[in-house]
Amino acid sequence: MTFATLGLIEPLLRSLETLGYQTPTPVQAQAIPAVLAGRDLMAAAQTGTGKTAGFALPLLQLLAMEGPKVTANSVRALILVPTRELAEQVHEAVRQYAENLPLRTYAVYGGVSINPQMMKLRSGVDLLVATPGRLLDLFRQNALKFNQLQTLVLDEADRMLDLGFSEELANIYRALPKKRQTLLFSATFSDDIRLLAGQMLNDPLSIEVSPRNVAANTVKQWIVTVDKKRKPELFVHLMRKGKWKQVLVFAKTRNGVDALVEKLQGLGINADGIHGDKPQATRQRALDRFKASDVQILVATDVAARGLDIEDLPLVVNFDLPIVAEDYIHRIGRTGRAGSTGEAISLVCADEVNLLSAIEMLTRQTLKRQNEPDFEPEHRVPDTDASGQVVKKPKKPKKPKASGGGGKRNLGKWVDSGEVAPAEPSIKPVRKVPVFNTGPRKRKP
Ligand code: AMP
Repeated sequence: MTFATLGLIEPLLRSLETLGYQTPTPVQAQAIPAVLAGRDLMAAAQTGTGKTAGFALPLLQLLAMEGPKVTANSVRALILVPTRELAEQVHEAVRQYAENLPLRTYAVYGGVSINPQMMKLRSGVDLLVATPGRLLDLFRQNALKFNQLQTLVLDEADRMLDLGFSEELANIYRALPKKRQTLLFSATFSDDIRLLAGQMLNDPLSIEVSPRNVAANTVKQWIVTVDKKRKPELFVHLMRKGKWKQVLVFAKTRNGVDALVEKLQGLGINADGIHGDKPQATRQRALDRFKASDVQILVATDVAARGLDIEDLPLVVNFDLPIVAEDYIHRIGRTGRAGSTGEAISLVCADEVNLLSAIEMLTRQTLKRQNEPDFEPEHRVPDTDASGQVVKKPKKPKKPKASGGGGKRNLGKWVDSGEVAPAEPSIKPVRKVPVFNTGPRKRKP
């Protein structure tokens, strides 16, 4: 099968040739003809499957071949994405595909001045990539009209809900013409996403290109158990031992990102960090430098790193496990992309046993443990498996207490091999976010 047999026009085929795309990926093979035929889509596809081209190519073709010329402040196709980085990335892909077409494309997102965006929108844009919050700001300030809108794409829809964008999505939805084509892409399909799909899509074609909620099998995954306080030390040890060249590291919190970056930089290691508190220009610069291999270690929160396409990334390290088990799949999806192999290593402490268990249940696998001599944890991580059970081992016979009660293991925090380590704070591994709930947004990307 070729892109030509899928019905793409010559200017697009020329762009694909320049980019070196030879064969359509499975999601492209299914999505391109359906979108060209005007169908709504509900596609379960992880990043790395080529989904961006799957919706962008036919969309650009429809815009080039059909519909009226775009008028002032109007937009004909809208791609909604959860984060600023993703907006840049998707727009860059769109720009490359549209190289030989007379179409205007643009990206708008928060964290940067709104005025240049308003100026740019004045003459109208054929295809706009946007984060939901900034899109609504522009709409409310009359910088945008949706009367010409013919297609809406929700990219990474699950992530948009995770980030608390359901209210924004509902407001955008109300402002759009009812007659339009809608394409929904999501890595995972929770009940919330299905509900959203039910509200937004009209007789959609369902596409599923990888088994639901199963992590890419091109990624070798393993964990190292360690005490929480020794994670930075273990990270540096593994990095030196494995002679790691380029690593994307995920930490749970913004403070966690900053602390690790500071520690690494203090050791003379070329590291940088991205998270939601940093200005957009700083985030983009760190990312660009990492992509250009000018930065060796990029430490990120989930919010900042979701959906990023970094070519040939060999290794992802979960410095902390994600609170939401599905994020594990997104994180390790940064490596082993487009058929290459990759490695994903998670540093797991006793507090995280419930998160580990949730990940194993979701990915239907027991992650291999490869413990590091000299880093064996004092607070043992109980055994887990894909059944979701924390496996209890028979208790070891108690050692007689040493007089004076002095041993290190008796300091109170020791977790016996037969006990489940307490989760601190108690964390529910899988979240539920009501669709279109009107509560406050949890955090900004
Ligand atoms: P995506 O899943 O859209 O983030 O795409 C993942 C990566 O695969 C991007 O770097 C694309 O440029 C690349 N890609 C997408 N489709 C193809 C294709 N048919 N052949 C080769 N590379 C592709």
